[in-house]
Amino acid sequence: MEYMIGVDIGTTSTKSVLYDMKGKVIAHADSGYQLYQDIPDMAEEDPEDIFDAVIEVLGQVMRKGKVQEGELKGVSFSSAMHSLILMDKDDQPLTRAITWADNRAAKYSEELKENGVGAEIYAKTGTPIHPMAPLSKILWIKNEKPELFEQTKKFIDLKTYVFFKLFGTYKMEYSIASATGMFNIFKLKWEKQALDLLGITEEQLPELVEPTDNIKGINSKYGKILGITKEVPFVFGASDGVLSNLGVNAIDPGVVAVTIGTSGAVRVVVDKPVVDPNGKLFCYALTKDKWVVGGPVNNGGIVFRWVKDQLFAPEKITAEQMQVSTYDILTQIAEKIPAGSDGLLFHPYLGGERAPIWDAYARGSFFGLTRNHTRAHMVRAALEGIVYNLYIVMLTIEGIAGKPKSIQATGGFARSALWRQMLADIFEQDVTIPESFESSCLGAAVLGMYSLGYIDDLSAVKDMVGVTDVHKPNKDNFQVYRELLPIWIRLSRVLEPEYKSIAEFQKKHMK
Ligand code: ADP
Repeated sequence: MEYMIGVDIGTTSTKSVLYDMKGKVIAHADSGYQLYQDIPDMAEEDPEDIFDAVIEVLGQVMRKGKVQEGELKGVSFSSAMHSLILMDKDDQPLTRAITWADNRAAKYSEELKENGVGAEIYAKTGTPIHPMAPLSKILWIKNEKPELFEQTKKFIDLKTYVFFKLFGTYKMEYSIASATGMFNIFKLKWEKQALDLLGITEEQLPELVEPTDNIKGINSKYGKILGITKEVPFVFGASDGVLSNLGVNAIDPGVVAVTIGTSGAVRVVVDKPVVDPNGKLFCYALTKDKWVVGGPVNNGGIVFRWVKDQLFAPEKITAEQMQVSTYDILTQIAEKIPAGSDGLLFHPYLGGERAPIWDAYARGSFFGLTRNHTRAHMVRAALEGIVYNLYIVMLTIEGIAGKPKSIQATGGFARSALWRQMLADIFEQDVTIPESFESSCLGAAVLGMYSLGYIDDLSAVKDMVGVTDVHKPNKDNFQVYRELLPIWIRLSRVLEPEYKSIAEFQKKHMK
């Protein structure tokens, strides 16, 4: 047999899947670790925990799959974007890995936005100016932790760290690089303006390689533990977001990947890098000639969880006693309310928002309440509000990447038929739910197979991804949503100037 392993280094766990060359899952493993949140806005991970998890999950799938010498043809990697580790002159980490979720650089990304430098850099890097990006993080460290900044030999990310431990060199592929805010996506080089701003040199960043490049010669110590010989190529791979597009078969023009998990995202593949004139979308590399344009949203399923916990606590207790999902009960409740929730609108910005408004102060709201509205209306309005918000992201993408043709949708939301249909109705598109088991691992494995010549084209993925459900837009519902959407959008603009005032009040008074 011939096998390929896809590894996905995520924020809370690392997963690994062993595939045969047809994309069939042979074995899988996952290993979690702690996210350190010792102080407000901090979100760090211990790089050593991550490395141990990578070794653990690789070893597990090798054992579970009873892989014999010569059968493993490659290992290919996906990882979360935007992480930053500072390495000292002895190649030891000076910091933990500061993850995308860490907000301590907020002051510096605000400054970059206000002085206009951010817009200039975004136009070349395609990474929205935000505390998530290593660009802002390094600026923060330079200003607030100068002793660390001075000692730094290399600024790297988690995947580069894992490859460094396995192969002893600092290499970063274009995909992760394109999410640092320091990589020129048009020239495929580190961007001088960004480096000058930070006061760092190219030598302080990893060497750039293509996502399809690979490296051989695994460190004997780990090779022995894993049963992986020095001949096995390790493909650098790409980031989890773009590989998830590949892993759900959303790589053809106009095929949009919509994810609603805890957070959410809308992403589409284009054949060359593009940036948004308003700086609200990202453009990250999948390969040199496939780029993913999209927007990440904070407020996905986490908002439904809030509705469940805060508005339906009694139902939650009953559901738990009956051992059924409270989400399923809430879906049944929402189903009884007509599309449009009888004119109740909800802006889902409970946790500030990234795309489409990029406003950390944004807050949620119900609008249009009457005495006839019930909690059932509130559930439905919340689900609709989450999808309206994603639809606005889609409209922005449409402006630079063309009209959508269909949607491949994934995430926890897909367990609700009502919510899936809502997506089809609000987007007025056919929605397909792919059978997506660890889509970023599959994406990594497919990229690996392609780069090593086991498949001719990335589109081979379509035969590896099954379909669980398909939804067609319902005309009547669609008409209702078309009436409400302009109100929802106008209302966003009306509310926007007040977000900061209420957020500041909350900061001052809420315990
Ligand atoms: P993550 O993004 O953290 O990997 P998931 O993709 O599993 O998580 O998504 C979790 C979200 O999925 C929950 O917050 C909830 O909103 C939603 N969800 C979970 N179960 C259901 C369900 N049965 N019906 C509708 N939504 C659900």
